[in-house]
Amino acid sequence: KANGRSGYAIFKDDMEALIVERRALERDLRSALDQPGQFEVHYQPLFEAKGRTLVGVESLLRWNHPTRGRVGPDAFIPLAEESGLIEALGEFVLRQACSTAKEWPIRTLAVNVSAAELKSPAYAMRVANILMSTGFSPGRLELEVTETAMSDTDGHCQANIAALREMGVHFALDDFGTGFSSLGRLQQLDVDRIKIDRSFIHGFGTDNGDEAIVRAIIHLAKATGLKTTAEGVETEEQSRILGKIGCDELQGFLLGKPCEAAALEERFFGADRT
Ligand code: C2E
Ligand code: CA
Ligand code: CA
Ligand code: CA
Repeated sequence: KANGRSGYAIFKDDMEALIVERRALERDLRSALDQPGQFEVHYQPLFEAKGRTLVGVESLLRWNHPTRGRVGPDAFIPLAEESGLIEALGEFVLRQACSTAKEWPIRTLAVNVSAAELKSPAYAMRVANILMSTGFSPGRLELEVTETAMSDTDGHCQANIAALREMGVHFALDDFGTGFSSLGRLQQLDVDRIKIDRSFIHGFGTDNGDEAIVRAIIHLAKATGLKTTAEGVETEEQSRILGKIGCDELQGFLLGKPCEAAALEERFFGADRT
C-alpha cells in the first residue's frame, strides 16, 4: 500500500471507526428517547386477499435523526436490543399505535415485538397497562414475533405469551420461513397467524420452487387452523397467485406502503375526519 499500512491496520481502523459510529448512534438513540418527537410510527395497510378490503394495519417505527435524517428500523432496532433501550422504544410504539388506531374501523392492529421485550418479566403487565390506559381492546391487538423469540424457553417469554393470550391478545409468527422455522413445529407454537416472509414472494411468477413452498405453507397453516399473510407483495402477478393458492391476507407496496397516520386516514377513512 502506498502509505505503508498493512491490510490489518486498515481493517483495524475500519473496525474502530465502526465502533465509534455505533457508540454515537447508541448515544443519540438514548437521548432521542427523552424527546420522542424524533420517533414516528408509520402504518402499513393489511388487506383481505378476497375483495382486497382493508382489515388491519401494521405499525412500523421510524426515527427522524436530527442530523442523519430518517434512519430505518433495520439500522437501529438491533442496536436498541443490544443496549437495553428496546423496552422503552417498544412501549412508546405500542402506546402510540393503540391510541392512534383506536377509532380506526379495522379489525387488527399489528405491532412488532422483539425477543428482548417478550422475555422481560413485566412485559405482559406493561401491555395490559397500555391497553387499559388507551382503551384499546386486547382482541384487536396482534403481536408479531419471530419464531426464535417465540420459542425462547428461558426468561419470562412463555409466561408472558400465556398471560397475553389469556387477555385475548393475538399472535402472528413474523418472517415465517427464514431462520430455523419448520412446518412441523407450527402446531406447538401458540399463534393465530403466520406471515410468510417476503423473500418467498419475491420469486413468484418467475420461480416455481417458491410457489410450491408457499402453497405448502398455506396448506399446512389451513390444516392447523392458522391464518396466513403474505409480506412484500409488489406485483399484480404475485397478488393473483397468492389469491389463487388461498392466502388470507396481503401486505406490500402494491397495495399500500407504510405511511403516516394522517395519510392512511385520508386514503382509507375519508379526508374529512377530524
Ligand atoms: P417486518 O416486521 O418484516 O416489517 C415489514 C418490512 O417490510 C417493513 O420494513 C416494510 O416497510 C417492508 N415492506 C412492506 N411491504 C414491502 C414490499 O412490498 N416490498 C419490500 N421490499 N418491502 C416491504 P421496515 O419498516 O424498514 O421495518 C423493518 C423491520 O424492522 C421490520 O420488519 C421489523 O422487524 C422491524 N421493526 C419495525 N418497527 C418495529 C417496532 O416498532 N418494534 C420492533 N421490535 N421491530 C420493528
Ligand atoms: Ca412484522
Ligand atoms: Ca416480516
Ligand atoms: Ca422482521
